[in-house]
Amino acid sequence: MERVDIAIIGTGPAGLEAAITARIRNKKVLLIGEPDLSSKLAKAHRIDNYLGFPEIAGEDLGRHFQKHLEQIGQEITQDRITAVYSMGDYFALQGKEEIFEASSVILACGVVMEKPFPGETEYLGRGVSYCATCDAALYRGKSAVVLGYSPKEEEEAAFLAEVADKVYYVPMYKADRFPGLGDSDKIEICGEKPLEFVKEADGMVLKTASGQDLKTDGIFVLREAIAPSQLVPGLETDGSAVVCDRQMRTSMPGLFVAGDIAGAPYQYIKAAGEGNVAALSAVNYLAEQKRKAQ
Ligand SMILES: Cc1cc2nc3c(=O)[nH]c(=O)nc-3n(C[C@H](O)[C@H](O)[C@H](O)COP(=O)(O)OP(=O)(O)OC[C@H]3O[C@@H](n4cnc5c(N)ncnc54)[C@H](O)[C@@H]3O)c2cc1C
Repeated sequence: MERVDIAIIGTGPAGLEAAITARIRNKKVLLIGEPDLSSKLAKAHRIDNYLGFPEIAGEDLGRHFQKHLEQIGQEITQDRITAVYSMGDYFALQGKEEIFEASSVILACGVVMEKPFPGETEYLGRGVSYCATCDAALYRGKSAVVLGYSPKEEEEAAFLAEVADKVYYVPMYKADRFPGLGDSDKIEICGEKPLEFVKEADGMVLKTASGQDLKTDGIFVLREAIAPSQLVPGLETDGSAVVCDRQMRTSMPGLFVAGDIAGAPYQYIKAAGEGNVAALSAVNYLAEQKRKAQ
């Protein structure tokens, strides 16, 4: 895929507004996320504080957002970015099966509320992974534990089981059924509460609250969002938020943030407003880069 002007990661209100504003400013935009937008929209039964839409259900607000995207002809590229690297005058974004290139990036990925498990960050890439599709091939004939934070991850675990010998699926949400797992006899559902990841000479161990530890070759942690410090190596963060100024500029030139990832308050209208500011800042950044190159 050819390099775009602005890559936007996240399809919540922040990312969508950033995409709309960037398109209005005639930029080539890559909007990466989910066709059904954000689970935080779907979960809200009633929203009372979004300008122009009193007492609206989250799903209905999402439909208005979808319609707006369709009207301006902005498509969503369904993918999950696992890493963003600054390459000097552009950024490389690692998707599940593809690497995207962009002259600037807006992170609009929402906030990660969960703290990493002890051992998670330490062994990332050495027994811990955030992407089953990307790393499945490494587990041919091996076993893996998948911590799935939403039903969407069931399909990722099923995909992994096509290659691996054994997959332990640990649902981190409440459900009676797991239809996305399919009928593979290689998948075992475990109701254990994970506590810690430990590396041993011959693999990983998931320590659990019940003491029924799971010995495996690798542990996949499939959350809706990845902590920004892990998503963008070297980015300045403050707890779960990315440090930014009022123009939504971060410590990395050309990389902007918007929405919950930029810190509290966690609100739809604030997220959308910041998406607008981040897009305009990205537009200014691109103009400046063009001037410098002349
Ligand atoms: C139940 C509930 C009710 C709420 N009610 C209200 C309310 O009434 N009023 C209000 O103002 N706020 C409310 N909120 C808060 C509001 O949902 C958030 O502030 C808002 O959704 C933040 O928007 P965002 O775009 O920053 O992030 P999100 O909406 O979280 O969207 C982030 C998107 O990025 C995607 N993403 C994350 N990581 C990646 C990646 N690596 N690659 C690709 N995509 C990625 C996610 O899948 C998601 O689609 C509520 C929240 C919840 C959970």
